[in-house]
Amino acid sequence: MLSHTTYQGLKETVFQSLPLGSIKPSGWLRNQLEIQANGFSGHLDEQWDDVGQNNGWLGGDGDSWERGPYYLDGLLPLAYLLEDKRLIEKVKPWIEWTFSSQKEDGSFGPTYLKNANNVMDNYDWWQDFIMLKVLTQYEEVTKDERVIPFMVKYFSYLKMALVDHPLKEWHEARGADLLLSIHWLYERTGDSELLQLAQMVQAQTIDWNHIFANFPYWRKQTEWNHRTHVVNVAMGIKTPAVFYRQTGDESDKDAVYKGIQSLMTYHGQAHGMFSGDEWLSGTHPSQGVELCAVVEYMFSMENLTRILGDGVFADILEKVAFNALPATISPEWDSHQYDQQVNQVICNLAKRPWSNGPDANMFGLEPNFGCCTANMHQGWPKFTSSLWMATQDSGLAAVSYAPCTVQAKVADGKDIELGVKSDYPFRELVTINVSLKEKATFPLLLRVPGWCSDIKIKVNGQVQYVHVENGYARLEREWNPSDQIEIKLPMQVQLEERNNYAISVNRGPLVYVLPIEENWVRVHERERFHDWELYPTSAWRYALIQNAQFDVEEMEEIHYQPFKTEHAPIRLRTKGRLLANWMMKHNSAAAPPKDPKPYENATIETMELVPYGCARLRIGEFPVLR
Ligand SMILES: [Zn+2]
Repeated sequence: MLSHTTYQGLKETVFQSLPLGSIKPSGWLRNQLEIQANGFSGHLDEQWDDVGQNNGWLGGDGDSWERGPYYLDGLLPLAYLLEDKRLIEKVKPWIEWTFSSQKEDGSFGPTYLKNANNVMDNYDWWQDFIMLKVLTQYEEVTKDERVIPFMVKYFSYLKMALVDHPLKEWHEARGADLLLSIHWLYERTGDSELLQLAQMVQAQTIDWNHIFANFPYWRKQTEWNHRTHVVNVAMGIKTPAVFYRQTGDESDKDAVYKGIQSLMTYHGQAHGMFSGDEWLSGTHPSQGVELCAVVEYMFSMENLTRILGDGVFADILEKVAFNALPATISPEWDSHQYDQQVNQVICNLAKRPWSNGPDANMFGLEPNFGCCTANMHQGWPKFTSSLWMATQDSGLAAVSYAPCTVQAKVADGKDIELGVKSDYPFRELVTINVSLKEKATFPLLLRVPGWCSDIKIKVNGQVQYVHVENGYARLEREWNPSDQIEIKLPMQVQLEERNNYAISVNRGPLVYVLPIEENWVRVHERERFHDWELYPTSAWRYALIQNAQFDVEEMEEIHYQPFKTEHAPIRLRTKGRLLANWMMKHNSAAAPPKDPKPYENATIETMELVPYGCARLRIGEFPVLR
């Protein structure tokens, strides 16, 4: 069906990605892409020299390391998903310069390459890995015939170069991101030399299998170590599955599950990620999580979904995408944080118990360090591209139910279009309109989220009794040209126990928090993207009352930007009481008190909780009055 061929030597993935452009966002998701295009993503090059005209990847003598490729890795899919001519024009010079930079020996990119420490290093491979991911997306959407020969030539160069200049430092941690491009090319050319290169890259990459199978980092880390760097770990978690394609070794697969479990046990946070305010930082809800780690963990979950086809990875993907991602960027996409906290009661310039600088939780252009400024753009576009995937038996799998349209080929190469209408995750109902020229028989795999015990699926009004395997319900039948599928995903409030007897509140894939009223103070003014401190103007020291009801209120409309407290499309009402023994500590909220004590005359109040992604100041992990 797809142009992919699977050759002996590389294990088949359970699902296959649809080429970039096959899935177009609609509804609230399209709005998110437009908002980012109107904010940072569509204007960063005009406002930030690091990805401006002087960037090394445009032939200038400015930044020549990761920032240009990072920016493109998000800007390119964004431009083509929105079919935005202005953005496509912005992408082209980078691509053309990259093609023109390839030398006779196959190497490409800026000649005078400075690495992370601003030291000349012509054998830092990391920025190349990113540009290769950009080029694979570019080929899928444009079919530009220069991409494949370009990559063939580069990889034959790399095979020689890695002998004397092996992976080290950042690229040693991130070898799986190079393997993704090698596998992508192998599936198109079948050249067995690529598998030799892949084996070499695997041997030179940090042994994440071993780390995740026997996880040694139980405590908060403070020392420089690529193995505990939060972004490396977020990227590294896909590595055992990428290796598994080469080894076929089941223990590689197991390492992924063990790794996620260990990360959540020792460093897990209420929004579905693990902490890392540079290094893995434990479960305290005031430790930070870096924005780069958020988008890279999403990319890892998308790849784990594709390779292993297990619904649990999409559960994590949705939780991170719908909560941690929007929360750490301003609603207009014109400022962002480096580190976010689950209990985030103030964002200001202040020393905190983490390795990042005092500005790391402020909202701005490049708080702490500019990597996130360049890298955050990939979040929503790649999520969009992963909403649906192809199955190996000529069907399609719904990974997430966010609104979109899908164009693909199914059984016997027949064209299909799916229109997914939903306000999911803010609502429970999803409608999928199937559009075929003629009848066709093929399977549709519909994800059954782990939190959903009572999914209801109807086809043309008829209830379907489905078999669920690996988190997907399989609907195999002869489909008519205009069938309609209706899915209801009933959401229940589910309380998750955290440390100190605290809890977090989940309903479906959304985490609910107490929003704290925000006073945004502009502390650095620029032409367009300013820096801000956020001060709280309402009380936050609340405990929830044990066994209090949660009443759900759905607002009438889904606002253009739903990820804003005033616009929250859905709210939970419950009871809480102000505490006398919950302090600030080290410029953050202290851990929720183990033995919460209310103010004597504090009344029991009605509290309104909103989705985590709506609130830039919030309490997401609550003490409970028993
Ligand atoms: Zn970053």
